[in-house]
Amino acid sequence: MARNLRVLFVASEAVPFAKTGGLADVVGTLPYVLKDLGADVRVLMPYYGMVKQGKIPTTLVAENLEGHLGGTSLAFDVHTPASGDHPFYFVERAEFFERSQLYGTPRGDYFDNLERFSFFSSTILPVCQNLGFQPDVIHCHDWQASLVPVYLRHRWQGADILNQAKTVLTIHNLAYQGLFAKEKFPLLGLDWSLFGLDGLEYYDQINLLKGGMVFADAITTVSVRYSEEIQIPEFGYGLDGVLRSRASSLHGILNGVDYQDWSPEKDKLIPATFSAKKIAGKAKNKAALMQAYNLNPKLEKAPILAMISRLADQKGFDLVAAVLPELLAQDLMVVILGTGEETYHRWLAQEAPKYPGKLGVKIAFDNALAHLIEAGADMFLMPSRYEPCGLNQMYSLKYGTIPIVRATGGLADTVEPADPATGTGTGFLFTDYTPEAFAGALNAALKAYKNQKQWRRLMQNAMSQDFSWERSASAYLNLYKLLVEGEE
Ligand code: ADP
Repeated sequence: MARNLRVLFVASEAVPFAKTGGLADVVGTLPYVLKDLGADVRVLMPYYGMVKQGKIPTTLVAENLEGHLGGTSLAFDVHTPASGDHPFYFVERAEFFERSQLYGTPRGDYFDNLERFSFFSSTILPVCQNLGFQPDVIHCHDWQASLVPVYLRHRWQGADILNQAKTVLTIHNLAYQGLFAKEKFPLLGLDWSLFGLDGLEYYDQINLLKGGMVFADAITTVSVRYSEEIQIPEFGYGLDGVLRSRASSLHGILNGVDYQDWSPEKDKLIPATFSAKKIAGKAKNKAALMQAYNLNPKLEKAPILAMISRLADQKGFDLVAAVLPELLAQDLMVVILGTGEETYHRWLAQEAPKYPGKLGVKIAFDNALAHLIEAGADMFLMPSRYEPCGLNQMYSLKYGTIPIVRATGGLADTVEPADPATGTGTGFLFTDYTPEAFAGALNAALKAYKNQKQWRRLMQNAMSQDFSWERSASAYLNLYKLLVEGEE
């Protein structure tokens, strides 16, 4: 294609504007990398209170456009960052988006999320018309944007500006599907015939993600392994059948790492920078980490095993709980940084005092501490039940902090099994979701750590891994091109 591809991202969060999870990192990074590769990318997201009050000032670019909720027209405005080269456009309708949070409070989801995101999805057409932007590809993310492929097929057939657009739906985590009561279906502005097995119906409820999965031209997930796993019932959250029926249009494209932020050679948030060749700095970070967590200085030569995580069932804390007493009976230290479910907060608060100087716990979201942990720890634990991609294991590799992970999703795709005999590999993996299997991987790692020469080799392998965004962006660009050329 001679001219540049025009791509419209539709998503509900992006750094630095609004973030609840990994989705925001992808949407806040990938568009810029695609731009560098020659694509003309725009991103549409809601104008939340935190965007309006955020560090980057915005300016009004369109007023009184017309979106829809069911059959009702609702006006909205559009804002864009006032300076800098940010291809972002924000949909303003205060009634829906000017709230303290994105999707809900700790007491639960906002009651009108269907209204909020079906309205948001309806704004794509008037925004493209207003900007005179005719997308070749509309790249939708997660359930919040899943109505867009449905609208393109069933509401906007006559709209010239969108008539060539192909759609891609990226599933960042299949566990979140956008489920709503059937009674709200009229608010979507779709014919009831679409509330069926071949449409948005799911056990007599509305399932927005399913709608996107049925009608998008291509579906992607954030690792190859996860794209395979979600086609089986164990990982499919009830949608494995739909995914199998779309298997030929389903692709896995691994997320990238922003090495501007996450490189030990130039990390501004750690006390001492280091590299594979000049590894000495890592010991200084370890000392600082031991101090930050009040760990026993006498254990300085023992390994630190770390976790940075949302405290959620997905992340395998039941396995951690099961192995913890035996683990901490050895000469080693464990540090945990996380926030999330109340039950895990209570559990960690109970455990920490049992192992003074050996188990450090901080219940917080703390980016600077996350950097110090990556830099100062020796091993990183991710015993996840499932992991669509996972970022921390990739950061850990870069910082020579050897990952011990369950062989699932993106973890399986990014960590190569270590073989101390041949000196190959980058980490330790286990397959069965059992404390025994996890303990097996931990023991293998602890044994390897005892041979410092072998361990150094492992660290060097790990630090030389490259999961840069350029690779992911090229893969997306190839997919877009295949779609536009009608070969996908
Ligand atoms: P998920 O998106 O499932 O939460 P990922 O590993 O893909 O898991 O991404 C999590 C991101 O959030 C990483 O960048 C990680 O460093 C960061 N993170 C998670 N919990 C914390 C925390 N308590 N403090 C600081 N950073 C955190």
